[in-house]
Amino acid sequence: MVRGELTGDSQVRASGCCIDSRGVKAGEIFFALVGERTDGHDYIEGAWQKGASVVIGEKERLEHRREVRVPEGKALIRVESGLAAMQTLAQAWRKELGAKVVAITGSNGKTTTKDMVAAVLSEKYRVHKNMENQNNELGLPMTILNAPENTEVLILEMGMRGLGQIAFLCAIARPDIGVITNIGTTHMELLGSQQAIAQAKWELIEALPETGSAVLNGEDEWSVKLAGQDSHQTFFYGLEGRFHEPDLRGMNLTPFGILGTRFQVGHRQVGHGDRCAVPFAEVAAEVGQKTCPHVSLPLPGEHNVLDALAALSVGILLDVSLEEGCRGLAAMELSRMRLELHQGPEGSTLISDVYNANPTSMKASLQVLKERGGASTLAILGEMYELGEASREGHYEVGQTVAELGISELITVGPLAEEIACGALEKGLSPQRIHSFPDREGAIKKAQELLADLNQGTWVLIKASRGMKMEEVTRALHKG
Ligand code: ATP
Ligand code: MG
Repeated sequence: MVRGELTGDSQVRASGCCIDSRGVKAGEIFFALVGERTDGHDYIEGAWQKGASVVIGEKERLEHRREVRVPEGKALIRVESGLAAMQTLAQAWRKELGAKVVAITGSNGKTTTKDMVAAVLSEKYRVHKNMENQNNELGLPMTILNAPENTEVLILEMGMRGLGQIAFLCAIARPDIGVITNIGTTHMELLGSQQAIAQAKWELIEALPETGSAVLNGEDEWSVKLAGQDSHQTFFYGLEGRFHEPDLRGMNLTPFGILGTRFQVGHRQVGHGDRCAVPFAEVAAEVGQKTCPHVSLPLPGEHNVLDALAALSVGILLDVSLEEGCRGLAAMELSRMRLELHQGPEGSTLISDVYNANPTSMKASLQVLKERGGASTLAILGEMYELGEASREGHYEVGQTVAELGISELITVGPLAEEIACGALEKGLSPQRIHSFPDREGAIKKAQELLADLNQGTWVLIKASRGMKMEEVTRALHKG
């Protein structure tokens, strides 16, 4: 299958794979890959010792080192490219598995949605999902190869940085259900326009078989636009349904616990093979408000509710009832908590969201800040990277949102983020409440001063792109 040359035991069996010799489990395939800093071919001995049953390595690399001794009962396969071999095997294993495949892409919330889909579907099926953020041409085939034989649904996050990449991942994964969380402005730098971003994501829907279903966000303009030209069954989720009436709707959102959200879900009848044409209102009447189930989500903000609705929609398409799905969501643990809560000075609460940022996720986090902090809020916002030509506008819009939401004080960090200050000023935030600094040090000092002056119980949001190292701000303000 991988067009390789085998030495050793050709009858050996393997299951699962690994690319780090230290993590190899008995019976697995060890792929010796060449990375930026390390070369997996240096660790083949270690992999055998850990119990790898098969090693797949690259011909050229293996030629340049002393003869690799293949232990008894094991096999070494020499291939042109280790990564290509892994992708080919993953494609084959996906066919062999006979599991349903759910693929998730979008600008924001892929990992969150992936974990939520797993939480919903686990109520009824044996699921396997990618770990953390393994969503690229390496992480995706690895995830597939590690799916146990009895997997019933495979849940895969798909990331992309350019055209053709989702199509490539889909050729390996052959998804049955495609979810697009939203089409925002991430990766503008690489793709140039919103249209190109939309098309790159839409490759997921194009790759679905005729019988496949698209799960789409009715609050997302581009998803709705592109759905209009597509013939697959579509299932929309949403809140207000700004661009498309949702088939599954979240209603009556209220805060729950310290950072959670409670909401109700209503859905209209899923058409079989049609495009879900029964108006929502009819079903809402039929179901009756009282019987619409409640979800208690351990996460804040509308954006997380939308991700949860996407997950429940996938559940509906795979015959998981709303009640079951809601139970799964309430019990979920995220693979990685993105919003961290800390105690700050003067009885303040810090929301630290420093893992990544783009205009969409900034606005979502600001909403959470307002929801929780009410009348006393401070936003400490740094630069957002990789926005290309949309950079100025993106920062500016975030500033406008700061003012529109009525955030009490704004601190910006870094030259690009001054544009955030401009946006806030334009929408009427008083200049006395806007403080711009070129670096973190100034921002930290100002934040400490402000918190000493502001009410007890102020809520503070700290957010920027990863490279801004805003965790330093969190650390400096963190109390105890
Ligand atoms: P990456 O591209 O790094 O893999 P991702 O798409 O997997 O990101 P997550 O890791 O799930 O996204 O979430 C990243 C941030 O995006 C979260 O901290 C949250 O603020 C925000 N976010 C999550 N869901 C949404 C959403 N539906 N809309 C807007 N922002 C969201
Ligand atoms: Mg992710």
